[in-house]
Amino acid sequence: MGNSHQINHVLTFVIFLNPNVNTNTILIRKSPLIVSGLLKILFCTNFTYKQTSQPNYVELCHQHFNEIVCIVCIIILITNVKSRLLIECKILSPIEELIMDLMSTDDFKLWSNLPSGTRIDLHSHTKCSDGGLLPHELVDRAVNFQLDILAITDHDTVAALDIANDYIVEKNIPLKLVNGIEISTLWQGFEIHIVGLNIDKTSPDLLQLIASQQQARENRAVAMGDKLSKCGFDDIYDQAKSIAGEGSITRAHFAKVLVRQGHVSAMQKAFDKYIGKGQRAYVKPSWCSIEEAVAVIHAAGGSAVIAHPVRYGLSTKWVRRLVVHFKEQGGDALEIVLPQMGNEQRKLMLSFCLEYDLKASMGSDFHYPSKWSDLGRNLKMPEQATPVWSQW
Ligand SMILES: [Zn+2]
Ligand SMILES: [Zn+2]
Repeated sequence: MGNSHQINHVLTFVIFLNPNVNTNTILIRKSPLIVSGLLKILFCTNFTYKQTSQPNYVELCHQHFNEIVCIVCIIILITNVKSRLLIECKILSPIEELIMDLMSTDDFKLWSNLPSGTRIDLHSHTKCSDGGLLPHELVDRAVNFQLDILAITDHDTVAALDIANDYIVEKNIPLKLVNGIEISTLWQGFEIHIVGLNIDKTSPDLLQLIASQQQARENRAVAMGDKLSKCGFDDIYDQAKSIAGEGSITRAHFAKVLVRQGHVSAMQKAFDKYIGKGQRAYVKPSWCSIEEAVAVIHAAGGSAVIAHPVRYGLSTKWVRRLVVHFKEQGGDALEIVLPQMGNEQRKLMLSFCLEYDLKASMGSDFHYPSKWSDLGRNLKMPEQATPVWSQW
């Protein structure tokens, strides 16, 4: 084997290691030629090795330098060409095809085997309820935040789901959308939110519940507007309604108007002084029961999840009561991973999941971009928990 061959090998190495796309494209076209050339060099080499009493591996490597270089070159070439093909020609390996199938169909049977590192957020809102982004803007944001799977869970409405889904299909966006909803319920005087995930959005039971919840929401908003005018603030209902637009009207819309008109300095103040529980303009909601919400979510083929169990201001004893009641009604999971949640809270919620044999869900409850939380941020499912998607 002469020096010229060795020089060729080094040059080949340089080409292999060059990340330039054009070089790689040439490599793809020329690869059969290069491989056959390398094989020729490999098999024309003299393989004889003088066996001494102890094999000397350094000498062996030295003698067979060319062969080793050839083999390494072939391996690099094959992997390099394959990965370029995957990127440029969108040719997928069988495993990747399986993953793509999984992501692009409604067959959830393989969800339990999601690839590690899959980024999931199962709680988010759009302008169809009280979120700040339109459905397509939320989808774009999810892609920018490198999410693989996103559930849209607007308050008592499924209006965003078709819009987001059409956008994803039209633009061929690599995001799996989970159909969801967040149903307001009343339990022991507390407003408890039950998220429904992986639901059939056309289920008649679900649509009927949505209609009655919307009516309850509307009645409450009118009554809240009356109370606020008695507090000396006129026209709040109409303005809250215009902010909500086509979406469900919520107390957040009232709070926004109160801030805008300068009656309070921040949205939280509006709740603390007027529209929060026990305050002057508070109107008791007439939401459905947890039992009803769970039954309807199940009728729609979905999983029922207690949303943000740590955000109701309940003591541990009361959270336990809530979890027990939810389990008795057939509930499926607890949302145990939220962005702003202390370690102790996470541990407690996980212990409830394990104790009451409930699955676990995670979500940002994203409403609008803020520095405190965002889509998919700080969400990691504890290893001991059984994820809610394992039953899909
Ligand atoms: Zn909620
Ligand atoms: Zn929410």
